Amino acid sequence: MAEHEVDVAVVGAGFAGIAAARELERQGLSVVVLEARDRVGGRVLNEPIGDGKVVEVGGQWVGPGQERLYALAREVGVETFPTHSAGENLIEWGGALKRYTGTIPRINAAVLADVGQAQAKLDRLSRKVDVEAPWRTPGAEKLDAQTFWTWMRRNVYTPGGRVLMELGIEAVWAAEPADVSLLHVLFYIASAGKYDLLLDTAGGAQQDRFVGGSQLVALRAAESLGDRVVLGAPVRRIVHRGGTMNVIADGHTAWCKRVVVAIPPPLAGRIAYDPPLPGHRDQLTQRMPMGSVVKCMAIYDEPFWRDDGLSGQATSDTGPAKVIFDNSPPDGSPGVLLGFLEGRRAREFTRVPQDERREAVVGTFARLFGPRAAKPERYIDKSWAEEEWTRGCYGCYLPTGGWTTYGDALRAPIGRIHWAGTETASVWMGYIDGAIRSGERVAAEVAGALEAGSDRYVRPHALG
Ligand SMILES: Cc1cc2nc3c(=O)[nH]c(=O)nc-3n(C[C@H](O)[C@H](O)[C@H](O)COP(=O)(O)OP(=O)(O)OC[C@H]3O[C@@H](n4cnc5c(N)ncnc54)[C@H](O)[C@@H]3O)c2cc1C
Repeated sequence: MAEHEVDVAVVGAGFAGIAAARELERQGLSVVVLEARDRVGGRVLNEPIGDGKVVEVGGQWVGPGQERLYALAREVGVETFPTHSAGENLIEWGGALKRYTGTIPRINAAVLADVGQAQAKLDRLSRKVDVEAPWRTPGAEKLDAQTFWTWMRRNVYTPGGRVLMELGIEAVWAAEPADVSLLHVLFYIASAGKYDLLLDTAGGAQQDRFVGGSQLVALRAAESLGDRVVLGAPVRRIVHRGGTMNVIADGHTAWCKRVVVAIPPPLAGRIAYDPPLPGHRDQLTQRMPMGSVVKCMAIYDEPFWRDDGLSGQATSDTGPAKVIFDNSPPDGSPGVLLGFLEGRRAREFTRVPQDERREAVVGTFARLFGPRAAKPERYIDKSWAEEEWTRGCYGCYLPTGGWTTYGDALRAPIGRIHWAGTETASVWMGYIDGAIRSGERVAAEVAGALEAGSDRYVRPHALG
């Protein structure tokens, strides 16, 4: 058993854990980061596709307002490039396939007006949300007592409008409208700034990508931590007694003054705590399910749709891949189409063999982009619910009653245990940017607590 004696042990080497550890070191504190997987980056992962090129099977985009991620990428020398969007977009709607330019598809004007008014209403409501404490939002209980589905029944008037809004919910939360609390949807919009920002490519959260893949940012950022990042060390147990913490992982044990747990709340709930955590915190972790998503990519010798004047971006009311992008590398070679299976479809398609998923997804691409799309050179997908150290994606959502009953337990430290991870972010929750912000916030919290001098650290020899 390797032993580490440090000021702070960090659980998890995703963007949150890495940001926290870097910031703690900058403040002169010693750290060890215990990571379950044999790599860093967590929900961000590059997949090599030959010739030194990669596609990302996890988080990949960055957009306006996500300043912490842009800043980190700049600091570690990773460049961005715009998501390919030149050309016409496609929408498959009511059995017809239509082309359009810009962000507004050419479908029934009444449906578009309906969605427009619903989005404006959501933006208006979201402005009232206190992102630091959503449970203190005026009328929080009423907003948190209804699902987004209930709200849609009353506020979206056309069947087509409901289909489009449902598509948006699935795309952003990887969940169904009936899964999520209205207050959570409003919080998330407020946390990003505006509903459109969540959905848009140019000007929105899908605007830019990273040259070399998003995981390169995490890999480079972790480099400065060197061997303070320990891979293959899943944390099983955290013992907290008096002034001393003992974090026990497979093959490693860390003695420290403070612990930062930088993993999604449902996984944090699977660590054994001694003594056990208060019920209020544990019940929070029981009420933050992860969304369901399979990210699927088909690789072609070239992005042939571009010759046809198409951007590669498409929306379909039929699916099963309903939101599609051109995900080719910066030089456009090879051609990559990316489709997401989200919410209900992810739940269905994670339970079938990959061949069946391939057939369904490539079938969608062929319906939209023609017969050439039916014959990719390679197909890649990743179902994040199957990942032992993630168990779903893009992130957690809160069902009804979650925020108002348990929200105050999300960030509040318990003794010397502090919480980070994108789920704890008040700005860009659910995104890589939110993860970095959470790491920086928790580092300040821990450094402040240590400076206040409340910790008397004595290494006991027989804790736990
Ligand atoms: C398919 C997909 C697409 C996405 N698209 C985007 C996007 O385009 N843009 C965007 O900004 N975000 C996107 N996201 C979300 C983004 O990836 C996450 O918000 C972000 O990476 C979360 O970082 P984190 O550090 O909070 O958590 P994680 O990345 O989950 O990091 C937690 C780390 O802790 C480790 N761990 C877990 N349990 C333990 C344990 N017991 N002991 C030790 N280690 C443990 C895990 O292995 C992991 O490395 C996407 C996610 C997915 C999956």
